[in-house]
Amino acid sequence: MSDTLFSVQNLNCATEDGTTILKGVDLKIQKGELHAIMGPNGSGKSTLASLLLGNPEYKTTKGKVEFNGQDITEWTPEERGKAGIFLAFQYPQSLPGVSVNNFLRQALNARKQEEQPVLELRMKILEWMEKLNIDPSFADRFVNDGFSGGEKKRNEILQMAILEPELAILDETDSGLDIDALKVVSQGIQEIRKERPDTGLLVVTHFQRLLDLLQPDCIHILIDGQIVASGGMELATELEAKGYESWQKSNVENASNKSKTADKKKIEKSAKEKAGLNAT
Ligand code: ADP
Ligand code: MG
Repeated sequence: MSDTLFSVQNLNCATEDGTTILKGVDLKIQKGELHAIMGPNGSGKSTLASLLLGNPEYKTTKGKVEFNGQDITEWTPEERGKAGIFLAFQYPQSLPGVSVNNFLRQALNARKQEEQPVLELRMKILEWMEKLNIDPSFADRFVNDGFSGGEKKRNEILQMAILEPELAILDETDSGLDIDALKVVSQGIQEIRKERPDTGLLVVTHFQRLLDLLQPDCIHILIDGQIVASGGMELATELEAKGYESWQKSNVENASNKSKTADKKKIEKSAKEKAGLNAT
């Protein structure tokens, strides 16, 4: 049997207004592997992460996504979540009125399709809170309500630990963290991998430091909606020395032509809107 957990083949996507963002992304993650995606701002990292969870904001125009050998390209976010795909957001939303405990219980019931024993779950949550250096009082606080940047990110890792996904996608879970919090988050990720060695991870990051802590199996560089290079830790070292520029050059012409078309479209659209043409 194949150990491929997840694969993305020639994935292209566009927004509702037809702007193409991803332009042929290929990825293959084996069980237990950790892959990192790096890339300049606006290159499509968050779009890829949320498309992989089935965000309807984006339309897959070409290519496919497979998870455990099944074609999931058309699956809804709920179906993907139940099947074991988890996404930690770059900007986690707050849920006033919903406690961390209740949120985790509901999310886990939805994932496992049955009621989980309340007490057992509470114990498990407390255990993970301790591992992740989260104050136990957070269990009764509303999700992300007044949480600091670091607390939000740790809460995402807590969700990942409790929901036991087969594939976790972390979108800049390291942004806004100080060195100590970064260590806690990366230790949390490693702890989860130790407990569930088959877990696949796709981690979006800007930081060499997180890569040093996590030692990914593979690093991909995403520029203008395309993976322009893949490799081991040596790629991160090269990137640190040279910046994205050397990879960007080969794409510059391509990208600028495309963005000119996009800009033209945007200008036409806003001119039409101003002229009230949309109302007719
Ligand atoms: P990254 O996470 O790599 O910084 P994003 O995936 O957030 O980049 O965005 C990639 C590009 O796609 C950006 O130019 C962004 O403005 C654009 N984009 C993302 N989502 C939408 C959307 N829903 N509608 C229009 N443009 C979008
Ligand atoms: Mg992003």
